[in-house]
Amino acid sequence: MSAKSIDGRSIAAELEKKVAAEAAELSAAGITPGLAVVLVGDDPASRVYVNSKKKACLRCGIYSEEVKLPATATQAEIMAVIDQLNQRNDIHGILVQLPMPAGIDEHQIINCVHPSKDVDGFHPVNLGRLISDEPMFIPCTPAGVMDLIKSTGVEIKGKECVVVGRSLIVGKPVSFLLLREHGTVTIAHSRTANLAEVCRRADILVVGVGRPNLVTGNMIKPGAVVIDVGTNRVNNSLVGDVNFEEAAAVASYITPVPGGVGPMTIVKLMENTVLAARLTKKQHS
Ligand code: NAP
Repeated sequence: MSAKSIDGRSIAAELEKKVAAEAAELSAAGITPGLAVVLVGDDPASRVYVNSKKKACLRCGIYSEEVKLPATATQAEIMAVIDQLNQRNDIHGILVQLPMPAGIDEHQIINCVHPSKDVDGFHPVNLGRLISDEPMFIPCTPAGVMDLIKSTGVEIKGKECVVVGRSLIVGKPVSFLLLREHGTVTIAHSRTANLAEVCRRADILVVGVGRPNLVTGNMIKPGAVVIDVGTNRVNNSLVGDVNFEEAAAVASYITPVPGGVGPMTIVKLMENTVLAARLTKKQHS
């Protein structure tokens, strides 16, 4: 079998058109969606991500504002900045670019973002809503993963789904989203015994670990849908967690890295920001 490559770039571009149209509608009604991105320190990878988010805002007609703090900023200073953004009517979404510099308690920072502006969907209120089947802001990467799976036309209901990785950003929300679609979900992690055997059960395999080539062709069930969330820099190029060539020989569908999950993450952030602005409009009408 030779897998079809899932083109995240074109799926994201289609969705972006819809998001831009909705943003234009809101702007015409007097509410221009606004996103604040808080960047602490000067991690080069974070800089790149923030720039792509700003460019996407521009394309979608979303007002964006970058709030840059030095790496020496204290917990209290960062929280004070977020608090000011929480109060502003022109800012509907607040994104705190992770990771924070060493010594900063990320959980406390995330909890400081008002749940109604938490467009990353990491606040316990929004994660709780997801688990209790009343989602508001779904974390961007997991939401993008679901769109990519759905783009294949493969039904999730009743399928064996294996998610490798259990972070709050990727693995756990993806698992709950698959469960909401009636998949039978197994979550694997660094202490999972016999990862290969667990992965081979998967009709739908989502890998978000951060280790190049962790998943090889012999770990994939013939015909599986493989979504590779991993982004690893190896010899100056970006690779996923899945050995693409080996996996593509066995799977039915597979995401490339780059050009798979990455573009979806950004457009989902835009979608959440527009949703945040729409919810504000609802409150005021
Ligand atoms: P993370 O917080 O470091 O979590 C990694 C997870 O992988 C943990 O649950 C860990 O298990 C598990 N793990 C580590 N080694 C393993 C092994 N040998 N076998 C099985 N599981 C193992 O990372 P993350 O934030 O979720 O990100 C994961 C990857 O996705 C990274 O490459 C990141 O860059 C990428 N990512 C991409 C996007 C995108 O837009 N494309 C967005 C977010 C993240 P334990 O819990 O047991 O430690």
